[in-house]
Amino acid sequence: MKYLNTFYCPLTFLLIIFLLTNCTKEDHEKLRKEAFILKLVNDINADSLKSDVIWLQNMGTRFAFTDNRRSVAQKIKDRFIQIGFPDAEIDSFLVTKTYRDVLYEQWNYNIIAVISGTQYPDSLCIIGGHYDNILGTGDPFTIVPGANDNASGVAAALEIARVMKKNNFAPESKIMFIAFGAEELGLWGSKDFAASPDGFSQKIRFMLNNDMIAYEPADDPSGWCVNIIDYDNSHNLRADAEKMCTRYTFLNYKNDNTSSSRSDSYPFFTNGYKALFFASDKVDQNYHTLNDLLENCNFDYCREIVRISCALLADKN
Ligand SMILES: [Zn+2]
Repeated sequence: MKYLNTFYCPLTFLLIIFLLTNCTKEDHEKLRKEAFILKLVNDINADSLKSDVIWLQNMGTRFAFTDNRRSVAQKIKDRFIQIGFPDAEIDSFLVTKTYRDVLYEQWNYNIIAVISGTQYPDSLCIIGGHYDNILGTGDPFTIVPGANDNASGVAAALEIARVMKKNNFAPESKIMFIAFGAEELGLWGSKDFAASPDGFSQKIRFMLNNDMIAYEPADDPSGWCVNIIDYDNSHNLRADAEKMCTRYTFLNYKNDNTSSSRSDSYPFFTNGYKALFFASDKVDQNYHTLNDLLENCNFDYCREIVRISCALLADKN
């Protein structure tokens, strides 16, 4: 082995010199960026996602008409502050809706954290998911775990925010992390944000939505698959997400678009913005029941889906 090393080392050295001198500046930049994205996605951690889902599940209920809704929003804001976003904000909107024969008119809340853009500070890439939950039957005012639906999507935004902050990511455009309120009552938080006249909505480059991304009961990862739902104006963005899926995860992907209007990406599409919706491929048997619990989630699977959003955000910036 000694002989081989001394023989091959100069050759390896010459090869590196050859590659370095023949790589263009663009090649270097591309390699540097890919290495950085790899670092980011490798930092996305299943245990970290799991601990955020436990924390959200243990709030008891996050149903949007409960009296604790402001304190739930405050806790999520505090979590963003804790992971390095001291300017995290609560954005209010009004919900007017009849639910089980009672008319409610109440304030509800989106929670927003940002990383500033270095080159295009007014353009915006959004990653989000709803934090409220509901029960199909039973009393959502008392207890709803909502682990997969949708603590998993909130955990995705928190985890990407944590990893980007930890690695001092300096994106070209602003990246905004949003935990949306009152999705289960009719996409109220995302509708409010996507239509809001506060200046953000005019410059949205794209929006990535994660809703129910932790359901995968199969042990064998070779069959794991993510559903990447797109819209008429976001086919190219989906193709880019598929590239990220292949490059940075071991998941298969598909696109069935059956739920395209059923989550927070939809109002962004109807307001003219590009959006994607990432979801578990399989139908969650525990959907909107008291069994939507941590122990029915698969965090190794969830981690892979989160990596796609993280890689796409970094690749586009
Ligand atoms: Zn949901």
